[in-house]
Amino acid sequence: MKNSNKGLNHDEPILFEIGGVDKSGVDLNKPTFKENFIGECFEDREIGLPGLSEPESIRHYVRLSRKNYSIDAGLYPLGSCTMKHNPRLNEKLARLKGFSEVHPLQPLSTCQGALELIDEISIWLKELTGMKAVTMTPKAGAQGELCGMLAIKKAIEARNECNRTKVLVPDSAHGTNPATAAFLGFDVVTIKSDKNGRLNFDDFKENVDKDFAAAMITNPNTCGLFEDDIIEIANYIHDAGGYLYCDGANFNALVGKVRPGDLGIDAMHINLHKTFSTPHGGGGPGSGPVVFSDILKDFCPAPLLKKDEENYYLVENHNDKDIDKSFGRLCVFHGQMGMFVRALSYMMSHGSDGLRQVSEDAVLNANYIKSSLEGILTPAYEGYCMHEVLFNDDFLSGTGVETIDFAKALIDKGYHPMTIYFPLVVHGALLVEPTETESKNSIDQFIETIRELASKTQDGEDFFKKAPIYTPIRRLDETKAARNPVLRWQKNDVIAAE
Ligand SMILES: *Cc1c(COP(=O)(O)O)cnc(C)c1O
Repeated sequence: MKNSNKGLNHDEPILFEIGGVDKSGVDLNKPTFKENFIGECFEDREIGLPGLSEPESIRHYVRLSRKNYSIDAGLYPLGSCTMKHNPRLNEKLARLKGFSEVHPLQPLSTCQGALELIDEISIWLKELTGMKAVTMTPKAGAQGELCGMLAIKKAIEARNECNRTKVLVPDSAHGTNPATAAFLGFDVVTIKSDKNGRLNFDDFKENVDKDFAAAMITNPNTCGLFEDDIIEIANYIHDAGGYLYCDGANFNALVGKVRPGDLGIDAMHINLHKTFSTPHGGGGPGSGPVVFSDILKDFCPAPLLKKDEENYYLVENHNDKDIDKSFGRLCVFHGQMGMFVRALSYMMSHGSDGLRQVSEDAVLNANYIKSSLEGILTPAYEGYCMHEVLFNDDFLSGTGVETIDFAKALIDKGYHPMTIYFPLVVHGALLVEPTETESKNSIDQFIETIRELASKTQDGEDFFKKAPIYTPIRRLDETKAARNPVLRWQKNDVIAAE
């Protein structure tokens, strides 16, 4: 096999390419049974699993893990994603046996502590949001949106107003918002943003009519700006007989400062893997609890966690009067237990003052970046931002360098790029979210790198078009990858070398 290692970074073929079928990392005794007692299920042909020794397989996975940029390796300024440090205290608590080994089907009498923990985090979430009810089961923000909108749909049905099919979504929204509404059969109407990056309230009002069901609004929105008219908008929505769903992915800017319930919001998901520091993606499953206002609380999904004098119990039967208006069940079990432990650990270790400090520092850090890059990058909107700062590509105009080239060059400098080309309302968008967990030192270093790259854009596009040069794979043909995805390895596949 040709060696295409660079420096101390090894090229990494997949297991099936490095493993031979003729060897094995384990010693198994020859089976001693005499007769075939499983009939046609008996197999003795090669099943094609790769055989590797223990050191070979360990090296494979360790090398793969080193290719993965992570929050533990460096600043991860991906806007809208809130890539904050995952405290090790959370991990320690999540590994306590009573939590890590709890099974969703074990008798409730044997897991009262786990149920108490779910109750405790529910109380925190209701307190922090000023909302009446919370459902803990959704597995991600996107599923939380589905949950919230299902409750809204059910509430509309309960009023016998099934003509209400229209959902208004601002043009700066995350794609999951219109996707969720469309998935549930609503008609999605896009509302324009105004020149200040906020929802255009006049355009909004013009689209509210007798068919209006709900609006899905993100606050702070994906431009990193607070929707100043939110209370007026909420009142308008309620007067028109509709509901206000809030995409709470940006709750990190508000936690401990503003309670969404006080803004007139009817349902909102909270991404525990954003605001409450649980790991994202490969580091662990997501979790997207949804909080509900008084008018929606009866429609939220089963199970309902309750307590009599002594014990916690679950209300799950749809005939039970406590949940007879519920839209049903969203998930088989009770949600991501490990994430609840981590998130509660984060909340309790910060306390109410610490959580307030979280959002203050997150907002301060974003504004520090914004003002430090004044005259270097071009902010999309004037004035202070919330917890993330949005730039457009005006600073690149005339250089031949595009947003994507700039982002790729950042990789060579040791940084995961910021979010680019989102939100769609800003040309060549660059969305930077430092979070509160970055130190001034690390932010200063990042700012210095951005300055250096920005000044290089004046020397022409060459340097940028070549980037990244230090990654194992350089520029991918993203169009081809999207149009012609190869999702399954086949024995004779040849991965095209760059
Ligand atoms: C992250 C995000 C979502 C989706 O949340 P997931 O947990 O990734 O499903 C929705 N809206 C916004 C604004 C987000 O940033």
